[in-house]
Amino acid sequence: MRVLLLLLLVLFSGTSLVRAVEKPFTFNETPGKLPKEVLPTEYSIRIVPNIDNLTFSGTEVVNVNVRARVHQLVLNTLELKIEAASVDGKELPVSAIKVDHENELLTLTLPSELTTGQHSLTLRFTGKINEQGQGLFYMHYQEQGTGARKIMLGTQFEATDARRFFPCWDEPAFRARFQLTVVVPETWLAVSNMPIESEEKVAGGKEVRFAATPSMSSYLNVFVAGDLEFIESRVGPTQVRVIATKGKAELGRYALDASAQILRYYNDYFGVPYPLPKLDQIAIPGGFGGAMENWGGITYYETALLFDPKNSSSETKQNIYEVVAHEMAHMWFGDLVTMAWWDNLWLNEGFASWMGSKCSAHFNPQWEVWLARTVPRDPTRRMGIAREAAMEGDARSTTHAIQQPVTTESEANSSFDDITYKKGQSFLRMLESFLGEDVFRDGIRRYMAAHKYSNTTTVDLWNALSEASKKPVDEIAAGWTEQPGFPVVNVKREAGHKAGLTQERFTVNYKNAPALLWKIPLTYSVVGKAPATLLMTGKTAVLENIPADRALKVNQKGTGNYRVKYDAPSWKLLLEALPKLGVADRVNLLSDAWAMVYSGREPISQYFGLVEKLPVSTELAEREQIINVLEFINRLLIGSPQDEKFQHYARSLLQPTFKALGWEPKAGEPFGAGRLRASLIRTLGDLNDQEIIAGCRARFKASLTDATSLAPDLRPAILAVVGRYADQKTWNELHERGLKTSSIEEKQNYYNALAEAIDPKLIKKTLPIALTDELPTSRALFLVARVARDSGHPEIAWEFAAANMKVLLAKTDAAGTNRYAPGLFTFFTDNSRAIELKTYAKANLPPATAREVAKAIDEIQFRAEFKKRLATQLNTWIDSKNLTKQH
Ligand SMILES: [Zn+2]
Repeated sequence: MRVLLLLLLVLFSGTSLVRAVEKPFTFNETPGKLPKEVLPTEYSIRIVPNIDNLTFSGTEVVNVNVRARVHQLVLNTLELKIEAASVDGKELPVSAIKVDHENELLTLTLPSELTTGQHSLTLRFTGKINEQGQGLFYMHYQEQGTGARKIMLGTQFEATDARRFFPCWDEPAFRARFQLTVVVPETWLAVSNMPIESEEKVAGGKEVRFAATPSMSSYLNVFVAGDLEFIESRVGPTQVRVIATKGKAELGRYALDASAQILRYYNDYFGVPYPLPKLDQIAIPGGFGGAMENWGGITYYETALLFDPKNSSSETKQNIYEVVAHEMAHMWFGDLVTMAWWDNLWLNEGFASWMGSKCSAHFNPQWEVWLARTVPRDPTRRMGIAREAAMEGDARSTTHAIQQPVTTESEANSSFDDITYKKGQSFLRMLESFLGEDVFRDGIRRYMAAHKYSNTTTVDLWNALSEASKKPVDEIAAGWTEQPGFPVVNVKREAGHKAGLTQERFTVNYKNAPALLWKIPLTYSVVGKAPATLLMTGKTAVLENIPADRALKVNQKGTGNYRVKYDAPSWKLLLEALPKLGVADRVNLLSDAWAMVYSGREPISQYFGLVEKLPVSTELAEREQIINVLEFINRLLIGSPQDEKFQHYARSLLQPTFKALGWEPKAGEPFGAGRLRASLIRTLGDLNDQEIIAGCRARFKASLTDATSLAPDLRPAILAVVGRYADQKTWNELHERGLKTSSIEEKQNYYNALAEAIDPKLIKKTLPIALTDELPTSRALFLVARVARDSGHPEIAWEFAAANMKVLLAKTDAAGTNRYAPGLFTFFTDNSRAIELKTYAKANLPPATAREVAKAIDEIQFRAEFKKRLATQLNTWIDSKNLTKQH
């Protein structure tokens, strides 16, 4: 037990703080395009897919509650052909049916005014089955065991694609009950939100009728069907299943057990038990890349759910747990209680990210969830640590407030970014540690009880937390959710055992940023003493009783969403006190020191000086932070005169740790050792370590005759290094193995390796694979991004993408469309590319991509400037070292 002291020392006013301006949820004041006079209450939808033609036909009956007399019914539709419409049994003339394609609206003009009260609308329509994860989509896959090429169907509706499946009031505040009926081939298993109510043979297959859902938002509907199988268990009254394509359900055992554990935890935490009779976790072998929290029927990209104990890496295992925990948190935060409008998407995503991490950390302390890299090396992410990723983007001129206005569908889809997820999570974590875990949970329970089966705004959450904590949570929160950016706290030792604190906005590549202030829930300690807290409400504050000869650590364990910059005396004392700091505080010091370097506040010697002072250790999170930085610098310097010199220095920092770990896993080694070994192999390989490259090649060769000889944890790393330095023959070997396997995880490892090749001839062979169906659609796309990032030839990747943009964009889903082309530019470090992107976007990209284009341009400018600055600083630093010759 530790005691937290609340010290309010100096309040300095004069600069204004943001005040909460939002109001609690009311239906009538919720933004949106649809008129609020007509409310759907119950949908009955029947869909008949035609798999040969990739089309479907549908009918629906919608009961609506008319709250004020209307002449028209206005609802959403997209890429559906409306065949017929009738109201209260009376068919409307064709001239009364109008579709506004641009605004995705269907307007039905009524022959006479509709009176208030209950009415029914019947629609007949047809639509198409898509290749990408938008609306109803299909996937081709290789069946496990038989290798047969099969097809299956799935849906993806968030944010605004339910309207591609059936015409509907497709805004989150329009909650209703949904009853779905589908016709599928007789041997197929069909899955939706609710259990099957009845099944009946009909011409062309069977008709499956699902029970009606409770009141929910349209984007939470789901329909998946194919040659599927499942395993199941039970938690109290809830049936829990993992569903996968035939031959793979047993690989869902780990996810099934995890789901049961998580469900019990959440039933208790939220105070409202999971309300549906069943919870399905559905593995989908393509179509979309992530996971989607459809109520009662969560869909996952296969590798986010299926774990093969013999062949999957421990990173895959951890990722499964964390994704499942995130999605299941949405069953409450998102599904039972839904944000009223997309401007509050963070309520869904920031919360689920925080809750998922909290639950994962609770049951798996060995993972160091809050500290270690939580996202695998994905080309769409730069640094995996949630807090760090959020802060990187939030420091730029292109950032936005967590709560931001959303008017168009495209803006809604663009809201799914690091600020929404990761800054949201990071802020909630800071708030929870400030209010206390129990108080925070009590607030959440109040919130759930008060708003279940309804919608909310952020203010509803603050009100519940304020009631529970008796603290003005909305006042503290406003600065973090309603204004962009975050602060750096400057620490300066003063006479009389004092430390002066000054806050200012922390920015990167952002001149003349508006000055802002935050209410910062600070935590700090004199190293060795109990931690204390201070709500810093003004520009400056003073900490008392800080002995001049003792180290002071601000931001305990790095839980706060702010940076700290220490003056020289404080930094010197901290370096001396390093052995007394826990790993979380050391990682926090490393992260802040690196941030001071890339933001131009300190030279690189500050960061490497700290790295060299740390004892050689095998702490996963600490070493990963260093590895991330070395990798970033290495990529930045590719082709520059400093790159060999830097690689030599970087190897000298990492080799001692690898020597301590060795190539082979040892019995009883700590959990992080396998992960760290893999990271070191991968990064030392990138850094041109000849011993590592030779070791990877030898192990790959042995695995060609005995595939099990490679430890699952090491496979991605070893294959990546082999692919990086591949010749034609090795490239072919990797490709053949990738083609052969029906495991999506294994397949990905081989194709990732193909994207690594330094040899331009080879990546020119890798790139066209993105146009084939060798990889699931969502992954094929990212092959190009991987080449851009990993091969060191972003120019070849871009040339290819530009020539094939139409085909590539046809494979993206709603969330990816705006991001894809600009994203490929972020690996350039040359300002001329920023101009090229501007010109390209103007001629070829829709206006909705503007924000993503601006982000990419900012990133290129940042990299170009940083590269120049770093080169000079590195020369000085490395020349001061006496490095031995390369072996
Ligand atoms: Zn989510």
